[in-house]
Amino acid sequence: MVQPYRAEPATDFTKEENKKAFRDALEQVKNDFGVKRPLIIGGEHIETEDQITSYNPSNKDEVVGHVSKATTEHIDQAMEAAEEAFESWSAWDPKDRAELLIRVAAIIRRRKHEFSALMVYEAGKPWNEADGDTNEGIDFIEYYARSMMELADGKPTLDREGEQNKYFYQPMGPGVTITPWNFPFAIMTGTTVAPIIAGNTVLLKPAEGTPLIAYKLMEVLEEAGVPKGVVNFVTGDAGVIGDYMVDHHKTHFITFTGSKATGLRINKRAAEVQEGQTFLKRVITEMGGKDTIIVDKDADLDLAADAIVNSAFGFSGQKCSAGSRAVIHKDVYDEVLEKSIELTKELTIGDPVDETYMGPVISQKQFDMIKDYIEIGKEEGELKIGGETDDSKGYFINPTIFADLDPQARIMQEEIFGPVVAFAKAEDFDEMLKIANNTEYGLTGAVITNTREHWNLACRKFNVGNLYLNRGCTAAVVGYHPFGGFKMSGSDQKTGSPDYLLNFLEQKVVSEMF
Ligand code: NAP
Repeated sequence: MVQPYRAEPATDFTKEENKKAFRDALEQVKNDFGVKRPLIIGGEHIETEDQITSYNPSNKDEVVGHVSKATTEHIDQAMEAAEEAFESWSAWDPKDRAELLIRVAAIIRRRKHEFSALMVYEAGKPWNEADGDTNEGIDFIEYYARSMMELADGKPTLDREGEQNKYFYQPMGPGVTITPWNFPFAIMTGTTVAPIIAGNTVLLKPAEGTPLIAYKLMEVLEEAGVPKGVVNFVTGDAGVIGDYMVDHHKTHFITFTGSKATGLRINKRAAEVQEGQTFLKRVITEMGGKDTIIVDKDADLDLAADAIVNSAFGFSGQKCSAGSRAVIHKDVYDEVLEKSIELTKELTIGDPVDETYMGPVISQKQFDMIKDYIEIGKEEGELKIGGETDDSKGYFINPTIFADLDPQARIMQEEIFGPVVAFAKAEDFDEMLKIANNTEYGLTGAVITNTREHWNLACRKFNVGNLYLNRGCTAAVVGYHPFGGFKMSGSDQKTGSPDYLLNFLEQKVVSEMF
């Protein structure tokens, strides 16, 4: 019998045996450095001459490995393979598909440290963040497998005399999964597995910065016996294959997680009906954030500072849910700022292999962009701590706090996606809410208060998809905190929710007279 869903527990790295196991995994995955991973199309492994190289952002000359570069011809082949696989895969009993995927989750669980260790090198993730990423990937699979089991027999409809009705779900066809580098395993796994559990087939294009961890999922799918062509692995230049995959007349859905700019582009292109296309494409977009923690005058100020610092600097601020703005009541502003600076001084920064709190940012491009924002911050506010950057070996940026920002300042409005947090002062709770809502984004937020009416007001007025009370604004857990944002943060089709699979299913009604 399938057990009820429960989230995968975090590894306790205070235990010596867990530390040792993780250190062993860090050594073990190094044996694969320099490996060349092929495309996988209809089960066939295809190595191209042209390759993408994945580097370690902590040590930018260190090659973690290479992947092949798909061309548009490969995309056509992959689409054909996905279409062919769809015929049989969609006819599987949904419960059998779900059970096979639970097997996939079990294999990942067994190899957990290997996956997390690879992310330490490929994504610059600190141990606990890498562990969380792998665990979340497992959670998505376990959760969606159970969702599919619940949806397998459809939902009740009314019958009436002489008429029996059925309402059930069916998969749509081949589609496209496009994923970011910041949760290179969890988001990639969740957005690949959801459509296939529902009976669809997928072309998976992971981010250029983190393709090797995505290949690990392919290894497990093969090992578990997921049929060929159900997931096709097509790494390549987004500039060459991105639009082509989205535009393809056989693409039924696109599930995209990444920046606002790319999400809007995909949304627009997918609306265009291509020659030979006989259906509307469904688009699921999870985009950026500019997430705010507001601190009330009666709040627990230690808790507030802890929430601000960890939400801002966990994984170097490279989370769509990162708390990049702190809006604080004028009566407690100075104290919260001071406590946050003190906590920030305690953070360790460096190669995450050495168990630091914060590793590097992902790439030269991100490093340069964050550095530019730090310069903008110096013009717009007062630099309180951090601001130092060093890309001599890896892409390291110290955790940075700016104070006294105007709510309309650029670093209060634009997604930086790095370890930079901006503080602004507010007169009262109404003003805090007004500032919290003044960006184009609406992903996460947190309220630190002990006034129940203020929390109640925030529940109605703080316009974000995921709002938290008296904690930070990151770390949503699958099944507990369905995740997705409003406004320009995306189309709000909450991942890890009971409704997510419906994005990949058609709802059918059959009505029989007798
Ligand atoms: P990105 O640059 O938009 O890339 C995301 C993915 O889109 C990558 O696989 C990228 O490929 C691909 N891509 C780029 N151009 C494309 C095109 N024209 N057609 C199709 N695909 C294309 O975003 P990112 O820098 O990887 O990720 C960071 C962003 O993701 C941040 O804005 C963050 O807030 C957001 N994010 C949102 C959520 C959420 O749940 N809301 C979660 C995580 C991240 P290449 O890598 O090959 O360029």
